[in-house]
Amino acid sequence: MPASERYDAIVVGAGLSGLYQLYRLRELGLRTRVIEAADGVGGTWYWNRYPGARCDVQSMSYSYSFSPDLEREWTWTEKYPTQPEILRYINHVAARFDLWPDITFGTRVISTHYDDATGRWTVRTDTAGEFSAQFLIMATGCLSAPKLPEIPGLERYGGRTHQTANWGNDEVRFDGLRVGVIGTGSSGIQSIPIIADQAADLAVFQRTPNFSMPAGNRPLSADEVADMKANYRDWRALQRTSRAGIPGPESMEFAVAAAPEERTAKFQAAWDRGELTALIGTYIDILIDPVANEAAAEFVRDKIRATVHDPEVAETLCPRTFPVGTKRMCLDSGYYQTYNRPNVHLVDLRKTPLVEFTTTGIRTTQTEYELDAIVFATGFDAMTGALTAINVQGRNGLDLASQWSGGPRNYLGLAMAGFPNLFTITGPLSPSVLSNMVVSIEQHVDFIADCIVYMGEHGYDVIEATQNAQDDWVQHVADVGSFTLFPKAESWYTGANVPGKPRVFMPYIGGVGEFRLKCDAVAAIWYEGFTMTRADQTVIA
Ligand code: FAD
Ligand code: NAP
Repeated sequence: MPASERYDAIVVGAGLSGLYQLYRLRELGLRTRVIEAADGVGGTWYWNRYPGARCDVQSMSYSYSFSPDLEREWTWTEKYPTQPEILRYINHVAARFDLWPDITFGTRVISTHYDDATGRWTVRTDTAGEFSAQFLIMATGCLSAPKLPEIPGLERYGGRTHQTANWGNDEVRFDGLRVGVIGTGSSGIQSIPIIADQAADLAVFQRTPNFSMPAGNRPLSADEVADMKANYRDWRALQRTSRAGIPGPESMEFAVAAAPEERTAKFQAAWDRGELTALIGTYIDILIDPVANEAAAEFVRDKIRATVHDPEVAETLCPRTFPVGTKRMCLDSGYYQTYNRPNVHLVDLRKTPLVEFTTTGIRTTQTEYELDAIVFATGFDAMTGALTAINVQGRNGLDLASQWSGGPRNYLGLAMAGFPNLFTITGPLSPSVLSNMVVSIEQHVDFIADCIVYMGEHGYDVIEATQNAQDDWVQHVADVGSFTLFPKAESWYTGANVPGKPRVFMPYIGGVGEFRLKCDAVAAIWYEGFTMTRADQTVIA
């Protein structure tokens, strides 16, 4: 085995998190290497190339804020950018800040262990040997471990298969084909209208309908781009202190106290805004009070009924098994209208569950569907999947997957007791997935970078979350979540979409503004909740 390549820091993943982390660490003078499984930068926006893939946070908000020059020189073209446009942007960032030379592509980290004696991490990869570093930063993504449906026989199916989360680089067309799409989350909802446009026949296999609102996507005008660019600093400040990194009106009114006509008018105004958080932000009690929630849910169901011509299909598309907003809302472009096309059929898997793949298609409990191509839009082992896929061994061989067998445990979503000098960006128990993730990513990266600066300035070599701080944080996240309706949903937020995964509501619902205040306070009081030691093991804090 060749000697490990030595670095100050290894970053795993070259998505928006890994790239900004590399930029910050290099700026600090740390010898840093990024290891990325893909052949290019972009993470989510590298892998998810399915037709219709686009962001559902507005382009000028879903972008880095760390460089005013970058903000000035890049011009977004649409309210909601397409996957190719976001990938072009990320490639531009990598080129502009000369990040490429420090990234090893096409290489997957398979295991890593911490050596107590040296205070360093050894990182083992599939194709590029071993690396050694003082700091290990996991920028592996919350939605980067795709999952397939858990039904037998896929290996015998002879048609084409595609997975939204691993689409490949070649152009895929469905002209003249009989196509099946499994899954009606955001990825399904974005791709179905476009696949329907091409396919001779499209069968949508729906297990759980979702709440979706029209995105109202449109080109950005030169004036609004110029206006945002002129006011970017103020906007960024608002993003950082807002609840979800998406500034907008934050209501203090209660839906249950409002007159029905007034409520409907507010819901309609939110609907017309075409923004992810608009509807659930109309009243303060939508995500807390089942009665308030049901009013908003019924508003969306009425929209579905008014759009879909066949009343039976409309009812099948109406979500009823979870409160609105407790699974991620979807923004669409013509999704419900797609079911008015003669070539589109909705298959209700609640009535006729999937049984198996056959050589020529899919069998449900009722029918066998002959299909030339199947698209899997079946989601991810979210938040923990990419981390537990790596064999991570901390102090004294402590195993991450076993530590998390009952659900993720960490401090601030950023660090774990027993895993010194290991940080996670947008880890579970942080607010990341409930926010505009670029806002969360920048905050996490800055926290980690500032912490490393602090350690250097004070002569510390090793940092580790304390068990007490971790236990308190895990409890706090659970407590805050339990005041809301979120834990009621069978969602990827709660791990319910992966058979056998522990049911824990994993995001921190306190909001990105509150979370930032908490992190700032921790840093201000000498990184409260962490211990820091010198290489000679002297405990400092
Ligand atoms: P990722 O972009 O997931 O990057 C992680 C990288 O780590 C990947 O490239 C992966 O290959 C690599 N990696 C993982 N494990 C290993 C390993 N063991 N070895 C080597 N490399 C590894 N968020 C929003 O805020 N707004 C949106 O509108 C939005 N839309 C989305 C649309 C889709 C289709 C998806 C899937 C997610 C969306 N998200 C959205 C969430 C999105 O994931 C984040 O916004 C953001 O892109 C995450 O960046 P990241 O760098 O943290 O993770
Ligand atoms: P998802 O929301 O988890 O949806 C997966 C879909 O597949 C669900 O409808 C699920 O049904 C279905 N499914 C899974 N396993 C199945 C099985 N065995 N049989 C039948 N159906 C099965 O995944 P996603 O659509 O990829 O989205 C994940 C997240 O990525 C989103 O919530 C969002 O955060 C992000 N995203 C954002 C955008 C965007 O608009 N910007 C686009 C795509 C993704 P059940 O619900 O019954 O489990």
